[in-house]
Amino acid sequence: MFKLPPLPYPIESLEPHISSETLTIHHGKHHATYIAKLNEILEGSDGIEDVSLEELLLNYKTLLPQTKHDGVIKNGAQAYNHSLYWLCMSPSGGGEPEGELRDSINNVFGSFDEFKKQFISLGLSQFGSGWVWLSLDQNNTLVLDKTSNEDTPLIHNKTPLLTMDVWEHAYYIDYQNRRADYCNSFFNIIDWKAVERRMLDKINQNNQ
Ligand code: MN
Repeated sequence: MFKLPPLPYPIESLEPHISSETLTIHHGKHHATYIAKLNEILEGSDGIEDVSLEELLLNYKTLLPQTKHDGVIKNGAQAYNHSLYWLCMSPSGGGEPEGELRDSINNVFGSFDEFKKQFISLGLSQFGSGWVWLSLDQNNTLVLDKTSNEDTPLIHNKTPLLTMDVWEHAYYIDYQNRRADYCNSFFNIIDWKAVERRMLDKINQNNQ
């Protein structure tokens, strides 16, 4: 049984960038429903009691019968994507990354401003629902992606570090159709320290 992870900050603390009304529905209804549906599909399956969500998404084809694959990847990936999304934001976030993350972003994208421009442009060019990602590829190099619907870089040999939800449910209450305003506001609450920690953890793990 997977559980809805609690928000790591008070529900009103991301205002004015993301309202408590949005988080109440987005976390308490959308994310909770993906997890409830995932658990419903997994009910009665053997051998997955100790499997993490990441392991499930990477190995569901060998762990589960084919009839469950579609439901598990859709709801499981959305459960995973949202869990990471909450951890990418903080009321004390914003500003610019420091330390090794800043150096890596400068190396790959030229500057933080250029990175920000490309990240937001992916969010604006995603047709319909999806996600924008900063990930590490298999060579520990930073890469930018956008994905549609529930798709996640985790199942494409990448390690997601930062994600922005661009499904309408992420911003419609606060910004209506103004996705650009939401994407720009998101940069006021990104928890860069957490993003850097994920990057360094993965690099250390790869080097062991
Ligand atoms: Mn969402």
